[in-house]
Amino acid sequence: MTLAHKKAKALKPGAPRPAKELCSECGLCDTHYIHYVKEACAFINQQVADLETAAHGRSRDLDSEDDLYFGVHQQMMAARKQQPIEGAQWTGIVSTTAIEMLNRGLVEGVVCVQNSEADRFQPMPVIARTPEEILAARVNKPTLSPNLSVLEQVEQSGMKRLLVIGVGCQIQALRSVQDKLGLEKLYVLGTPCVDNVTREGLQKFLDTTSRSPETVVHYEFMQDFRVHFKHEDGSIEKVPFFGLKTNQLKDVFAPSCMSCFDYVNSLADLVVGYMGAPFGWQWLVVRNETGQEMLDIVMEQLETQPVMAKGDRKQAVQNSIPAYDKGVTLPMWAAQLMGVVIEKVGPKGLEYARFSIDSHFTRNYLYTQRNHPEKLEQHVPEYAKRIVCQYKLPK
Ligand code: FAD
Ligand code: SF4
Repeated sequence: MTLAHKKAKALKPGAPRPAKELCSECGLCDTHYIHYVKEACAFINQQVADLETAAHGRSRDLDSEDDLYFGVHQQMMAARKQQPIEGAQWTGIVSTTAIEMLNRGLVEGVVCVQNSEADRFQPMPVIARTPEEILAARVNKPTLSPNLSVLEQVEQSGMKRLLVIGVGCQIQALRSVQDKLGLEKLYVLGTPCVDNVTREGLQKFLDTTSRSPETVVHYEFMQDFRVHFKHEDGSIEKVPFFGLKTNQLKDVFAPSCMSCFDYVNSLADLVVGYMGAPFGWQWLVVRNETGQEMLDIVMEQLETQPVMAKGDRKQAVQNSIPAYDKGVTLPMWAAQLMGVVIEKVGPKGLEYARFSIDSHFTRNYLYTQRNHPEKLEQHVPEYAKRIVCQYKLPK
């Protein structure tokens, strides 16, 4: 342990965080690595381009549309497991990759997040050392999760080879301190992330949106422009985006997520999401050689197809900006109808991913401009500024 670590003291639960209301509870400040917070925190010191260069050998090419939107990558594809994992968020590519890496001895442990016994949505970060422990972490916890809070345990365990699974803000902080962890090799498996909530915020979202909030097992904002809630009995409830009670939900999303511009997890080696793939498939972004190494070991278990793009998102994004800003909610019959129409003619594949990125970046730019104007210039990365300036924003 370095002297700097010894001097720094982890914050107690509930203590104010250095990023104040923008804190995403990534977990760094629950450890002595808080010593590096001013440099490492994604909400205090945005440094995506520099960290991209360190992790991938170059920062994204702003003149290439795919780089601009999806970050540095060697390849993208749509994939799904031939035999999906029961109870995974999608087909379980994330859990499978982690299990294979452990089984083959590439890593000694996997940072992932299980849930507490009492509450299926209460995150409980762990260092998994068995396939069973990794499996127990499958499925999204759609709540802010302090994944990095286990970093001190990594150091204490003497582990040298580690896989970390996480979302963008966790991975930005991790990349900033990775050289201090005493590891020989770090693998980073990321998922995209957006619109996360605190546990209380999640309850409000479920209560205002689902017909049966207490039986929801998981949910996803899907490519068919509906939220799909899966219930305990296996039934799927679909609520069109346009029918969400935006006026009531405006303050549900965490301030960190309202000011985040790293939707696609720019700094992970391999990213596994869904939004750039056809419905039912997952979307894979291989950012560097390490990501390719991770994908190679699960490739034989996957069915794959090339990524595609269809439609034109621009008008739909432009229309959604003032509608969201004013908190417009359509009556459910109109929302259902709109959902059917837009599913038929709306953007698909990578164009759907760009639709989602544009909608969230414009919303988040407005949020940051209004609530933290002093941060706007430094906090919004250049690629996000270029994306946002394609649209007319309300004052
Ligand atoms: P599984 O095999 O089920 O494994 C899920 C893994 O996610 C587990 O290892 C677990 O440790 C980890 N995890 C769960 N919750 C969290 C959390 N809160 N923080 C950090 N790690 C967590 N993809 C898109 O393409 N577009 C989106 O808009 C999008 N939004 C997301 C929002 C959230 C809050 C999260 C957590 C993920 C989001 N994803 C999104 C990713 C997507 O939903 C799936 O997680 C991904 O495709 C992996 O599916 P899987 O079946 O392979 O994962
Ligand atoms: Fe600390 Fe992470 Fe919160 Fe930043 S986001 S203040 S690094 S816990």
